[in-house]
Amino acid sequence: MKKPVTLQQAIVYFADATRAFDYAKFLRWPDGKVTCPRCGSEKNSFVKTRSLWFCNGCKKQFTVKVGTIFEDSPIGLDKWMTAVWMICNCKNGISSYELHRAIGVTQKTAWFMLHRVREAMRSGSFMRLGQEGGPVEADEAFIGGTPKNMHARKRSMIRNQHIPKPSVFGLLDRETREVRAKVVHDVKRDTLMNVILDQVAPRSKIYTDAYKAYETLPQHQYIHEAVNHLDEYVRGEVHTQGLENFWSLLKRGLKGTYVAVEPFHLDRYVAEQVFRFNNRATKDNPLTDEDRFVLAMTQAAGRRLTYADLMGRGAD
Ligand SMILES: [Zn+2]
Repeated sequence: MKKPVTLQQAIVYFADATRAFDYAKFLRWPDGKVTCPRCGSEKNSFVKTRSLWFCNGCKKQFTVKVGTIFEDSPIGLDKWMTAVWMICNCKNGISSYELHRAIGVTQKTAWFMLHRVREAMRSGSFMRLGQEGGPVEADEAFIGGTPKNMHARKRSMIRNQHIPKPSVFGLLDRETREVRAKVVHDVKRDTLMNVILDQVAPRSKIYTDAYKAYETLPQHQYIHEAVNHLDEYVRGEVHTQGLENFWSLLKRGLKGTYVAVEPFHLDRYVAEQVFRFNNRATKDNPLTDEDRFVLAMTQAAGRRLTYADLMGRGAD
């Protein structure tokens, strides 16, 4: 049977338990070498009737789910595979209601699955931005306003020292076109500076607007240029239009799909949009829906988010 292209095909394809299992196994161990997640041994025997392996090294059993976001979940791989497929490929994201309808789990379960998969989609790269020499855009966005009145809101914010919440801080490497974004508790100088210092290589060019938190960037060995949104949005190379584009995608997704987003969960919605943005098809990199699916699956290993984590009060 051919690999799924449409949602309907994906549902049919993964409804077959063996096929879903084989595919999860292939995604987890693409070279075919099934290794024990506990001791790393490649010596094991497959117990076909129970779809698990017995490790000859540590003498314990393991399943295809161990160490992944699917661990400890009673949900079958058929449903997980379909959920990942949907989240990767629906342009404006999907709601728990859509997932609940598509795969036949309760809406509460669908909601939980969505959050786990979103967590897995967050990039685990240790590389810093700006290494290829391209400028890096930095900007903050405030969820709740429309992109249209965003600049007006920001101007008033800067004037009144009133910081709306929740805020998302983003970086865009214009050379590699990679975006990184996350929810921040405030947009004070130290908060933004810490993110930049972590994620952007020294001596990179950084373009921002005239928000005063960025004024100390040169002291941290960055080449900083700013556009003052009061009278200009673009000055030659100096602008944050790449991030503006990302903010409008993020806001459109939030508006079209999600009725209300708790600040605590917003970060995972942001991660989902970052994943889709960074893995979108370009001229040089013609990614398909299946490529995005494989990427999300390979990033799923080693990440687990428990129900307690999700229900925790704002802890992140
Ligand atoms: Zn073992």
